[in-house]
Amino acid sequence: MTSNATPEGVRARVRELLAAHDPAALEPLDFLRARFDAGLAWVHFPEGLGGLGAPRALQAVVDAELAAAGAPDNDPRRIGIGLGMAAPTILRYGTEEQKHRFLRPLWTGEEVWCQLFSEPGAGSDLAGLRTRAVREDGGGDGGGDWIVDGQKVWTSSAHNARWAILIARTDPDVPKHQGITYFVCDMTDPGVEVRPLRQITGEAEFNEVFLTGVRIPDAHRLGAVGEGWRVAQTTLMNERVAIGGSALPREGGMIAPVAAAWRERPGLRTPELHDRLLTLWVEAEVARLGAERVRQQLAVGAPGPEGSGLKLAFARLNQQISGLEVELLGEEGLRYGDWTMVRPQTVDFYGRDAGYRYLRAKGNSIEGGTSEVLRNIVAERVLGLPAEPRIDKDVAWKDLPR
Ligand SMILES: Cc1cc2nc3c(=O)[nH]c(=O)nc-3n(C[C@H](O)[C@H](O)[C@H](O)COP(=O)(O)OP(=O)(O)OC[C@H]3O[C@@H](n4cnc5c(N)ncnc54)[C@H](O)[C@@H]3O)c2cc1C
Repeated sequence: MTSNATPEGVRARVRELLAAHDPAALEPLDFLRARFDAGLAWVHFPEGLGGLGAPRALQAVVDAELAAAGAPDNDPRRIGIGLGMAAPTILRYGTEEQKHRFLRPLWTGEEVWCQLFSEPGAGSDLAGLRTRAVREDGGGDGGGDWIVDGQKVWTSSAHNARWAILIARTDPDVPKHQGITYFVCDMTDPGVEVRPLRQITGEAEFNEVFLTGVRIPDAHRLGAVGEGWRVAQTTLMNERVAIGGSALPREGGMIAPVAAAWRERPGLRTPELHDRLLTLWVEAEVARLGAERVRQQLAVGAPGPEGSGLKLAFARLNQQISGLEVELLGEEGLRYGDWTMVRPQTVDFYGRDAGYRYLRAKGNSIEGGTSEVLRNIVAERVLGLPAEPRIDKDVAWKDLPR
């Protein structure tokens, strides 16, 4: 018998899948469901949950084999929040019932997820959030529904989402990090109102979300009551790797279109731009290899705070490289003609023009944690430098000055 934990083992599994489910003859969704059931969705997940309990690195072998066979993929860009943030959190903190209910349609893309974390007035101070969740029967464990009231903001994909990961305050009488609980929120609940927010690119990728009397069954709580901050750390650490650490080929990512323009259009070149391009090319390559290292770390356990450094580098480089591209292309780079209000399903950095890349990259240093806050995390949790003074650490949330 071939072991699942070897390249040959997973190749054999792929052959079995393809023999029983011809991708050319099946609807893409039916093929994706079969792929999940064969354990070839994310091989490092447990058996029965889309995986084989195999090393994460073998996923690349599976993906290459299936791509070569013309099999459909699950469009990871469209369902990035589900894959990058919700799935690892559900895997770690979910009950068996939750894992079996949520992971398959999340992975196939049948159900899109969004993240209801940020709030007006809390933002980077995520633990300062005000959205309240009150248990209807007034207490006890394993009790009735939770009723949620509050407002979230900057919620990417809320307009497409079926489910949300949500953090809410369940105990205002304890310090702010302790009284938070983590839930899965049904975006089709009548108390959920989603309003578009237009951004600098003209489109509305994200939203304000108003929660009024939203009813969440206790069975949709992730982790223990009051333990939401700890659960959210899993989401946030995965988020930083998901944003900053995708696998890229050499000269992939944001540097690719600039390097291509440089090669193909010698008339644009100047010695000064040459120096800057080379500096950024080298930095992009260093960041790419650094991401590889963090992914290896992820493969052997939970991601650490080092992912914050990766996300920082990703944001800075994207902004510098897209700025250089606009300078290289001159007027052509500034052209950005279409301000039609659209509600995209993905952030399409490479299918669009330089002006779009330049504008959209501005958000990279804010989304998923601002660069300033990530620098604090790297300073305190990676380098062990003295922490920022925190006078609110032992004060009940309800007594904090606002
Ligand atoms: C494109 C985009 C998509 C997003 N998608 C989502 C989403 O899907 N779901 C979601 O929940 N959120 C989302 N966000 C929200 C994002 O996570 C927040 O905007 C971010 O955490 C910052 O919060 P804030 O905007 O309230 O700014 P604030 O927290 O008010 O920060 C303002 C400024 O103060 C700085 N600052 C704050 N505290 C400190 C500190 N302790 N030390 C140093 N500097 C500090 C910040 O770095 C920043 O420069 C998205 C944001 C963007 C731009």
